[in-house]
Amino acid sequence: MPENVTKKMLFFFPKCECEEPIIYHLVKDHNLRVNVFRAKVTPEEEGYLVLDLTGTEADIAKAVEFVKTFNVTVNTAGKGVTWDAERCTHCGVCLTHCPTQALCVTNPATREIAFVDAKCIECLACIRVCPFGACASAF
Ligand code: SF4
Ligand code: SF4
Repeated sequence: MPENVTKKMLFFFPKCECEEPIIYHLVKDHNLRVNVFRAKVTPEEEGYLVLDLTGTEADIAKAVEFVKTFNVTVNTAGKGVTWDAERCTHCGVCLTHCPTQALCVTNPATREIAFVDAKCIECLACIRVCPFGACASAF
């Protein structure tokens, strides 16, 4: 039996297509577990949804094809939160605020900071505390 994997994705709905039925179909028709981190609708009625999909690779691939039929852009890197390596001064302020160690020290000797996108749960804490604006939200 194929193993389950979890993939983080960002869905962009150009003109808010019905979010709720899509999630419903991901769960019911594609046997996926869905964990929504963030959802936003802009005043222009564009919709953003950052979520984890858990299921088999095949089910996730089929689900993504299904979602795309609604004219939804799917970003499989799931980059709702971005980190600008140029702006980061490696001050370390964010380290104690990041609950998942997505922002972490890669080299204990130099105290250099790195951002591990796959670990980020989009809590936005780093955006609030970073004094140098190195962390930002895509929406
Ligand atoms: S708080 Fe900002 S500048 Fe400081 S280490 Fe974290 S991301 Fe880099
Ligand atoms: S958004 Fe939260 S989880 Fe992601 S890097 Fe920033 S503090 Fe860490």
